[in-house]
Amino acid sequence: MSGSKDVIIIGAGIAGISVAYYLNKAGADVTILDKGDGRDNCSYGNAGMIVPSHIIPLASPGIIKKGLKWMLSAESPFYIRPRLSRELFDWGWKFKKASTAQHVEKSAPLLRDLLFKNRELLVELEQEEELDFDFQKNGLFMFCKTEKGLEEEAEVARKARELGIPAEVLSPAEVRNKESALDLDIIGATYFPKDAHLHPGLLMEGLKRLLTLRGVHFEYKSDVQSFVKQEGQIQKVQTADGRVFKCTDVVIATGAWTPALCRALDVKIPMQAGKGYSITLPEAPVMPQHCGIFSEAKVTMTPMNGRLRFAGTMEITGTDTSITSRKIVGLKKSVCRYLPEYKMEDLDTDDIWVGLRPISPDGLPYVGPFDEYKNVFASTGYAMMGMSLGAVCGKTVADLIMGEKTAFEDSLIDPDRYNR
Ligand SMILES: Cc1cc2nc3c(=O)[nH]c(=O)nc-3n(C[C@H](O)[C@H](O)[C@H](O)COP(=O)(O)OP(=O)(O)OC[C@H]3O[C@@H](n4cnc5c(N)ncnc54)[C@H](O)[C@@H]3O)c2cc1C
Repeated sequence: MSGSKDVIIIGAGIAGISVAYYLNKAGADVTILDKGDGRDNCSYGNAGMIVPSHIIPLASPGIIKKGLKWMLSAESPFYIRPRLSRELFDWGWKFKKASTAQHVEKSAPLLRDLLFKNRELLVELEQEEELDFDFQKNGLFMFCKTEKGLEEEAEVARKARELGIPAEVLSPAEVRNKESALDLDIIGATYFPKDAHLHPGLLMEGLKRLLTLRGVHFEYKSDVQSFVKQEGQIQKVQTADGRVFKCTDVVIATGAWTPALCRALDVKIPMQAGKGYSITLPEAPVMPQHCGIFSEAKVTMTPMNGRLRFAGTMEITGTDTSITSRKIVGLKKSVCRYLPEYKMEDLDTDDIWVGLRPISPDGLPYVGPFDEYKNVFASTGYAMMGMSLGAVCGKTVADLIMGEKTAFEDSLIDPDRYNR
């Protein structure tokens, strides 16, 4: 160990674990603190898609109109619980301001570079560390039921090709040639051959096992609530039960709970939790080979180690993790509409999971150091793409802490971009 770096990472989701992996590799001493058991977070039951195709940030033209329409139906994939919250109002205003064509134009090349680098790092991880996380590199479909849906997806595919990302627009027969197991009720699809999918739980457990063997300390049930500051630096981190941890550097990787912790640092990170669900079938009536997204319904389908997972919905309802049963019904109905072979009862399962996506108003992550402190770094705000961005952003933060050059220091992902 170098002995010169003693880093506290707050948060044991994919964001924190990824920073830990690269810091440990670079010779730093690392302790990870998590308020829970390290599994009750957003990084386990998600859809596991690795999506270099997703170059359009959530904040984009047309999204607000769509969202308002969805709000009218209890079973739709989107809901904002109206509440008197200054933070929610402020976030909504910033989201509206960011939902422009110019923002998409500026963000897409950076997202492409980050997403492709992340895919490369996952391949490296799988090979170098011999980790098995069911990483299937066979592409992703965006399945469409309507002309309008297919037109919108074809436009995304056109933009992707413009940026050098392979993308195809397929007829139902062409889809069947690639994915013969499924009987789909669609009028077409787009296909992104460079996309992939993995088992998020296996990835997380594999990385944690590896890090434990290599001397990274995990402290669960450690709810960080305050900091000891001196001369523009954080010297110690304190937990709710009074334990104190000394450090040279701190990484904030606290997902949807980040704004609360940032209050203790006197820095602002606008963020809302986007609640989503997954249901996992131990045995599926039909097992696809590829992952896919039912485009109009915003529901995902991922085969995972012999199981089949469907995921979706976005509820902006604070950090409450209760399950809204109407949303689960809506998710199941969507599956049956795209996959007529499935009946509602085929989708009954006890394996229902809920997760909180950490969503910034401009749909871009917060990665890098804060102006206010010389030794505090953010790795958060990964929204719908934490598995697709965790490794590259984790490596970026680790490089910055170790004083190494990084390709991804960019004002678009600066954690202080809303503080200036
Ligand atoms: C339904 C659904 C499907 C998804 N599908 C995909 C997908 O296919 N592909 C993809 O790339 N992404 C997907 N995502 C997004 C992805 O899951 C998230 O972006 C990612 O898991 C966020 O990781 P994180 O480490 O930032 O947060 P988390 O995994 O939530 O981890 C944050 C951790 O911080 C801890 N913490 C918070 N506050 C404190 C504190 N004060 N003290 C100590 N610990 C604290 C928490 O306990 C938690 O363990 C999906 C999300 C959902 C909900």
